[in-house]
Amino acid sequence: MVERQLRSRGIRDERLLSAMGTIPRERFVPLETRLFAYQDAPLAIGHGQTISQPYITALMVECLALQGHEIVLDIGSGSGYHAAVLSYLAREVYSVEIIPELTDLSRRNLAAAGCGLNIRLFIGDGSMGCPEAPAQGFDAISVTAGAPSVPEALLTQLRDPGRMVIPVGPHDDQELLVVEKRDGVLHSRTATHCRFVPLRGGAGWRTAR
Ligand code: SAH
Repeated sequence: MVERQLRSRGIRDERLLSAMGTIPRERFVPLETRLFAYQDAPLAIGHGQTISQPYITALMVECLALQGHEIVLDIGSGSGYHAAVLSYLAREVYSVEIIPELTDLSRRNLAAAGCGLNIRLFIGDGSMGCPEAPAQGFDAISVTAGAPSVPEALLTQLRDPGRMVIPVGPHDDQELLVVEKRDGVLHSRTATHCRFVPLRGGAGWRTAR
């Protein structure tokens, strides 16, 4: 997976490649799909949700340019895999999930994978931010569900300087935005086009697809 799907497509961050080579991804997918855990595709994790394709996880995390000292906010815990990858590269990860059963799932998966000591899991509407944000804000924010626009609460909880990666746009074609806050100014670029499950909640999509 690391060589064929990540390095060959331009993922360069060695700490990230090593984290994804170490974390047992099979622990984060349902038993019946374990054989496909390292496939180049997203997989269903229940409740209509998916664990992203490994390359998309890698690209999103690489866009955050983590050095190791950061406190990161992860919106959409799902299986817990994305949070696990972030936890290898940052000091602490706060992960918010709106479906309580998936918070339980991610807690079990992280324990089974032997990671997550620096991850705090929250149940709630992450489109409104994290209920317990550090006073100075988050150094980085990663959203793994597609939003209609960048939620205000997340811009507020992003530290200056800080970086956020978030898919924005209609259900079937989103832009993966990298938003950087620097000296009080926001700079945004598109990393790729993608397709995520919808972000729900107050600043997400109100209706099902
Ligand atoms: N990062 C996950 C996959 C994310 S799938 C992984 O590695 O497995 C998208 C997740 O976002 C789903 O679990 C979904 O329930 C969650 N979600 C959707 N809207 C949300 C919201 N407003 N707040 C928190 N989580 C949300």
